[in-house]
Amino acid sequence: MLLEISDIHVHYGKIAALKGVSAEVDQGEIVTLIGANGAGKTTTLKTISGLRPLSAGRIVFDGQDISRMPGHKRVLAGIGQAPEGRGIFPGMTVEENLLMGAYARKGDVSKELKEVYELFPRLAERKGQAGGTMSGGEQQMLAIGRAMMADPKVLLLDEPSMGLAPLLVQQIFSIIQEINRRGCTVLLVEQNAQQALQIAHRAYVLETGRVVKSAAAHDLLDDPEVRAAYLGGD
Ligand code: ATP
Repeated sequence: MLLEISDIHVHYGKIAALKGVSAEVDQGEIVTLIGANGAGKTTTLKTISGLRPLSAGRIVFDGQDISRMPGHKRVLAGIGQAPEGRGIFPGMTVEENLLMGAYARKGDVSKELKEVYELFPRLAERKGQAGGTMSGGEQQMLAIGRAMMADPKVLLLDEPSMGLAPLLVQQIFSIIQEINRRGCTVLLVEQNAQQALQIAHRAYVLETGRVVKSAAAHDLLDDPEVRAAYLGGD
């Protein structure tokens, strides 16, 4: 397993956001976490990237216990994150934003830059434009591209389709598949469960800080409970 989360508990003050979540992500997979608002999806990603501390449990990445490792070291170990709400640097150009994603790497990053521009031709066209003046969809591409600059082994994506028009949502999901085809493992958090389940290999359903279901993604697309709760089905 590339990533193993074992019985993690996470608190915000006295509030327990995660109450013993366990999940695994194998090399080469796209795994998605789905669940209602407040289920703990974002918290799970933040805990993996080191933005939230564990109260209990363990996270092993690439054979190494990273439970107490600071966030910047996790980036170096190969954990890339494109955060919810994008978090790009508005006053910097597109290219400067991308280079920030590689700041911790030593040496030449032209190969990574070329690859990101291949994945996102729009970013190449707009490389000199200020990040803050890019459209919502373009900023989302920029956030993913920036995370890819660190050449991660796993990419954590928090609601990449949020706020995007349907055509752009399609585009983002197909880029995620392309990133995965190029060898990057993906852990995807999505409100858009239908689309996430269509591109993922496996999925976990979170409810109020617990995993209530895990299965092959295409099986969950046909699961009556999942259809009723998350897919707008009957
Ligand atoms: P959404 O889809 O709405 O983003 P989520 O599944 O990502 O939801 P989290 O953001 O992980 O859910 O939140 C899990 C729980 O932790 C929620 O009950 C939320 O209110 C709580 N929580 C999250 N962030 C904080 C915070 N900074 N302070 C206090 N409680 C928080």
